[in-house]
Amino acid sequence: MQSTRNTRQRKLIISILKEAHHPLSINEIYDRTTKELPRIAKSTIYRNIDQLLEQNLIDKYYFNDNEIFYRYKESHKDHTHYIICDECKKFHNLPTCPMVEVEEAIEAEGFIIKDHQIQIIGICKNCANK
Ligand SMILES: [Zn+2]
Ligand SMILES: [Zn+2]
Repeated sequence: MQSTRNTRQRKLIISILKEAHHPLSINEIYDRTTKELPRIAKSTIYRNIDQLLEQNLIDKYYFNDNEIFYRYKESHKDHTHYIICDECKKFHNLPTCPMVEVEEAIEAEGFIIKDHQIQIIGICKNCANK
């Protein structure tokens, strides 16, 4: 029965991340998960998240002074960066990844790159016009 429960938890966490269409913090994932599974422990959510990261099914982001967020990847190659507006906290995605050339140059030096983060701080057009 243990494995049935684990599968259900995992499926629920994946569907929550999928439906969000933008990165979610661990608290947001926890709040949404407990609506369906009220007794789930936060450590269980962390364990599932770790597995999904290992399997390259989700991406990890740092926003709001290094609060961690997670996003479901549409495919293994899916690679998207986000900016959160400081005012309305809405997510905006970067049209492309500006790191490709930088990574190539660093890799040419023999450095093995595992991941990168881009942090841009600002406010969106709507908030700027208020
Ligand atoms: Zn805004
Ligand atoms: Zn990138």
